[in-house]
Amino acid sequence: MTVTYTFLSLILGLVLGSFYNVVGLRIPKNESIVYPGSHCTNCHRSLNAVDLVPVFSYLLLHGKCRLCKVRISPIYMVMELLTGICFAFSYWQLGISLELIVAWLFISLLIIITVSDIAYMLIPNKILLFFLPLIALGRILSPLEPWWDSLLGAAIGFGTLLLIAVVSRGGMGGGDIKLFFIIGLVLGTINTLLTLFLAAVIGMFASVIILKKHNQSRKTPIPFGPSIALAAIIVYFFGNKIMEWYKNLFF
Ligand SMILES: [Zn+2]
Repeated sequence: MTVTYTFLSLILGLVLGSFYNVVGLRIPKNESIVYPGSHCTNCHRSLNAVDLVPVFSYLLLHGKCRLCKVRISPIYMVMELLTGICFAFSYWQLGISLELIVAWLFISLLIIITVSDIAYMLIPNKILLFFLPLIALGRILSPLEPWWDSLLGAAIGFGTLLLIAVVSRGGMGGGDIKLFFIIGLVLGTINTLLTLFLAAVIGMFASVIILKKHNQSRKTPIPFGPSIALAAIIVYFFGNKIMEWYKNLFF
């Protein structure tokens, strides 16, 4: 039974991941997320059912549009795959529970903001405002131990990022600051700070790799959202294990 449900969670994640790509690309441009249907952004050919199977269509078409052969970025397939894997792993870890809803909401938010931040260097307010009440409700139904650690985490997450933004004079976007409020609600104080630390490490490695690959100047801004999202998902599942390991190392 567990295997069946894990597999179904994977399928659900793949399908939703495909939809989240559309949401992440269209919401910042104030476009409808249902109309028009998905189309090639180069030749505008509408995609039919065969083109819309998550991951497989991309592999089948070798990452090119069927008509105009323009290359499609592998980022979208990677996002579908990540959503699927994270959804399945959540079910595997949490089973059918209220916490599973929190996990799926949290993953959904992080996937969408990653797509938007990569495409437009922007974490849309609309997305944050849509997920905030849902995730807050989830955390009320499935509270942290103690419950107020959510509120403290949100305040410290928001406050710390705001402080960094002020000190670095705009080195941190408004979206990143608000995102950390929601991360705080989900993860609590310690794990929110761990997420910030991990995101900084991931962001540092990512910028070194990207700058080297594209031979860009150090002034080129690199979105921080994807690093935050990756760090937050790692900490959501393994934060307590990481902290335990860290404590054993020193005490
Ligand atoms: Zn095309």
